[in-house]
Amino acid sequence: MSSHIENVVIIGTGCAGLTAAIYTGRANLNPLVLEGPLPGGQLTTTSEVENFPGFPEGVDGYQLMDNLRQQATKFGTRFEQLLVTDVDFTSQPRKLIAGDRVILARAVIVATGASPRMTGIPGEKELYGGKGVTTCATCDGAFYRKMDVAVIGGGDSAAEEALFLTRFASKVYLVHRRDSLRASKIMADRATTHEKIQCVWDSVPVAVEGVEAGAVSGLRVKNLKTGAESVLPVKGVFVAIGHRPNTEAFARTLDVDEAGYFTPVAGSQIRTKVPGVYVAGDCADHAYRQAITAAGMGCAAAIETERWLAEHGG
Ligand code: NAP
Repeated sequence: MSSHIENVVIIGTGCAGLTAAIYTGRANLNPLVLEGPLPGGQLTTTSEVENFPGFPEGVDGYQLMDNLRQQATKFGTRFEQLLVTDVDFTSQPRKLIAGDRVILARAVIVATGASPRMTGIPGEKELYGGKGVTTCATCDGAFYRKMDVAVIGGGDSAAEEALFLTRFASKVYLVHRRDSLRASKIMADRATTHEKIQCVWDSVPVAVEGVEAGAVSGLRVKNLKTGAESVLPVKGVFVAIGHRPNTEAFARTLDVDEAGYFTPVAGSQIRTKVPGVYVAGDCADHAYRQAITAAGMGCAAAIETERWLAEHGG
């Protein structure tokens, strides 16, 4: 084990992690950022980002993350590709365990993000990201003006995505495997009574069609009661069957809710019960899940870190 002690280690390279790196770098803290399996986070899997403030013409998701990375590097951020599998926060310095490596840090910002759950049906992976399969209506809904789309799922996310999509799409099929939505009553009522939303009950998706052409041309569904298959003629498929926060390595040490999201201490969005350890972005936020809110949390975590290190000898 190296005895070198880092000022601050940031885990994750999405909007939250890289914003935290820019701020802690600019505060001369020489941050180390640990990069996981999806460098740049979820935004790198979308094409055009039209709602990130400051880009009136929109910006490519990959480009935006590359810009953040360059900005973080400019202020002295160092990057290492390491997957943290366990932590020991019982003493100072904090210990981050990645295979046979142990990294010591005075302060830690956990910004590990969340991964959308996918159905795993044929065509879904091939047509994901810019080709018609997506997991974010807020990000991609505007690309489906006057088109028919399908939303898969029956929870609040699916109802919310379907309602949001009615602003753009001609028709929204809401495909659910049971005959009633799991969503809260108010959301379910709004979705099921909306004139543009057609519920496709008792049905599971079987395949996304259009792989050969490189763009979604339909969603094949199977009615579980009759066994009959049909193809919904849609150009967009929105998968909304929940998210999985990437918090497994920390769940024994930091507080998480029943869905696995970090639960910060009362009165804060980012402070955990361990002094000098902060959480930011989608791993601690199932309500908003936006690039700009993640960036905001990363900024706040960095400022808290700076203050904490100043008080506790950074
Ligand atoms: P969720 O409540 O877990 O719902 C997931 C939905 O996807 C369920 O209807 C489930 O079906 C379906 N599903 C799961 N796996 C599937 C599969 N392989 N194939 C087809 N369907 C599948 O997830 P969520 O909607 O993302 O919500 C997560 C949490 O955030 C909830 O607590 C929710 O209330 C909250 N939330 C709140 C709001 C809001 O208040 N505005 C908005 C979004 C989310 P079953 O119903 O059969 O299990």
